[in-house]
Amino acid sequence: MTTGYFTHPLCEQHDMGADHPESPKRLLAINNTLQATGLRQDLIGLTAQPAQMADLSTAHNQHSIDLVHNTSPQSGIASIDGDTSMNAFSLDAALLAAGAGIAATKAVLSGELNNAFCAVRPPGHHAEHNLPMGFCLFNNIAIAALYALQQDGIERVAILDFDVHHGNGTVDIFAKDPRVLVCSSYQHPHYPMRHHDTYAEHLVHCPLAAGSGSREFRHAIERKWLDALQWHKPDMIFISAGFDAHHMDPLADLNLHADDYAWITGLIMDQARCHAQGRLVSMLEGGYHLQALAASVQQHIQTLRGV
Ligand SMILES: [Zn+2]
Repeated sequence: MTTGYFTHPLCEQHDMGADHPESPKRLLAINNTLQATGLRQDLIGLTAQPAQMADLSTAHNQHSIDLVHNTSPQSGIASIDGDTSMNAFSLDAALLAAGAGIAATKAVLSGELNNAFCAVRPPGHHAEHNLPMGFCLFNNIAIAALYALQQDGIERVAILDFDVHHGNGTVDIFAKDPRVLVCSSYQHPHYPMRHHDTYAEHLVHCPLAAGSGSREFRHAIERKWLDALQWHKPDMIFISAGFDAHHMDPLADLNLHADDYAWITGLIMDQARCHAQGRLVSMLEGGYHLQALAASVQQHIQTLRGV
């Protein structure tokens, strides 16, 4: 398998303050582990290019795009909300994060890559059509999925989100777009408590109670995601890859282990092979315990590589 690894040095410059859990150290931990294990040299390393205004407009309204641009400071830190802020590098990092998803989609659709992982930040799945929030400025995975849907032969896609927090932004953006199956698993009740009660046939919610572990997680996925994927038959699959359901993560209370991420990745690859000619793009969302994050991403990428 040829697996692409999209990242950019500026994604490590976006910094919301010394105590913020969504820190530059996350990408550093991932990169260090991939280097130390030798996995990094097996990946096709690619540098992200910034998304254009027209790309952002597919998922967000002008108010939301303007809010991010107008908040961007020359120096220091400027807040969008209590959780989400920007330094002088954040706007460029956000444009690169969204652009990475588009470039990965392009490379997978052209056959240049079998699949790809985008090691980017800020993450994206909480950003709604009209509202950056929850550490997220632009909804990277939604922008990538909408780019795919503009290409010949791509009529339906699926976004599969196993971050511990519900992907409210992605649900908001696709609530009325049945071309996009959105399946998520998440701790509930828990942040963000928005759009988890938005219902449609193409929105599959798998809430998990605090304390749930591998058994409950795997059972929910097998029971609800697989039927939906069989019914939807996506032409391409996207993963909102958050690793904060790990038992060591400080921001939530689920009890997954690194090997659960190998399991879910393998299951998604089977579905991609079955319906979508293997076409798969994964984008980093959450995961805040550095060691657990790096070990989980390693499992995820090893499985994407087919090793
Ligand atoms: Zn999360």
